Amino acid sequence: MSYTLNDKIKNLIPYEPISGEYSIRLDANECTLNYDSEFMKTVDDVIHNLDFNRYPDPLCIELRKSFADFYGINYKNVTVGNGSDELIFLIESAFMKKGEKLLVTNPDFSMYEFYSSITENPCVKFNKNEDLNIDVDKLISTVNSENIGVLIFSNPCNPTGHGITKAEAEKLIKSVNCLVVLDEAYMDFWGEENSLIKDVNNYDNLIVFRTASKALGSAALRLGFAVANETVTRAISAVKSPYNVNSFSQAIGSKLYKNKEFLNNRIKTIVENTKKLYNELVRLSKLTDDFYVYKTKTNFVFVKTSFSKELWEFLKSKSIAIRCMGDYVRITSGTDEEINAVINAVEKFISER
Ligand code: PMP
Repeated sequence: MSYTLNDKIKNLIPYEPISGEYSIRLDANECTLNYDSEFMKTVDDVIHNLDFNRYPDPLCIELRKSFADFYGINYKNVTVGNGSDELIFLIESAFMKKGEKLLVTNPDFSMYEFYSSITENPCVKFNKNEDLNIDVDKLISTVNSENIGVLIFSNPCNPTGHGITKAEAEKLIKSVNCLVVLDEAYMDFWGEENSLIKDVNNYDNLIVFRTASKALGSAALRLGFAVANETVTRAISAVKSPYNVNSFSQAIGSKLYKNKEFLNNRIKTIVENTKKLYNELVRLSKLTDDFYVYKTKTNFVFVKTSFSKELWEFLKSKSIAIRCMGDYVRITSGTDEEINAVINAVEKFISER
């Protein structure tokens, strides 16, 4: 008897964003602030009152209600996932028929394409313009001529930091016959006026994703949200595994979204810090003609430079982790101290090379 792994999985390696210990982690677009001691008391309380012997609420009612209330939508339009990562996999595997095509934009969040290789759906890549923006008319005609089943992209985008306007997104959704998944993981930083989260009932082909991993600062809880009309929501809810979100994450997430002032203040701080990081990087870009800084609508800044790898290695040697992607680096915004440390190190690297 013998068993061999199939071709699609036999050479895969488990996801590990970065190995090693770093004193400053600006590589994963997380929120670099943890919760204060007051909130940690609430966490203790939740743990002590948790029914560990019981399965979690499969419908996540409390959490959906507080999430929906924060964004001013109806909780009946919301499904919760074990991070948006689970939702991406779920939508691609359940909403695409055998052989149906996925379309992703390039560059974009790499997991969209990865999961399609597991579900064995062909993935069509639509290249962005030289300036990393999306030509929406061209995208519409590609989706229609390629007979796409699902179009998924992040808005604003990880890694570029750019976004298409609400009017452009609306035009796109109305002009294609496929399901459109708008991953708004970073929309908290750009502003709700650019989001389609409140408009899902106007469309039968739209799913909007949000996550608790970025602005809310709860990447550890693994909470992702799919917002769609009730028909689509019923389908997502029916295909997910019943107890996909654990009781602890449901309880803490629900408390966090109820604290609107805290969340709004946190968003404001992160946006201000990102502006500072952007402005400082722009200042450094004047020291060399090989360091182009892209504008950002997110909590990170994307930079094009041919010395990306050397810079990444140099920062690692200073115990600072950022993300290197080919000829680009992506730096997550952190606290004032973290920004100062990364800027000083980048400045040293550029002026000494
Ligand atoms: N979408 C985008 C665009 C992301 O950048 C990320 C995380 N880096 C995710 C989804 C995954 O988020 P989550 O932590 O909710 O799984």
